[in-house]
Amino acid sequence: MSLCVIPNCHNTKSGGYTLFKLPNEGEKSRSKWIQFIKICGVDTDNLKNHVFICEEHFEPSVMRENAIRKTLEKDAIPTIRARVDEFNNRNEIYNLQVKLEKCNEKCQQLERMIQLKKLLKTNVFLAN
Ligand SMILES: [Zn+2]
Repeated sequence: MSLCVIPNCHNTKSGGYTLFKLPNEGEKSRSKWIQFIKICGVDTDNLKNHVFICEEHFEPSVMRENAIRKTLEKDAIPTIRARVDEFNNRNEIYNLQVKLEKCNEKCQQLERMIQLKKLLKTNVFLAN
């Protein structure tokens, strides 16, 4: 099954997306494709033979569409990392949640300290 190589993008051919194959060795745009794949966080030293990138990572201006299928302009390169950004956003939200939890913990500790201090004051008062 052909799957988009970009992390967190699960677009497939059977899902109705057009997948474009990494240009062959010797083709001008190949290194630029690999650069893009690397930026997206893929280990490009161990790329499989058949690497695909789905249409969502290409500007509409570099694609042609006819009745049968979508094709790429000559030497078109992928540029859109939308799915990766989505992933980063999710990470950011997670980090904020962790921070908030830590904050809540500190708040509770502070409250406990205040209560202890009050208790201590009362005891001191009683001892006098
Ligand atoms: Zn994709």
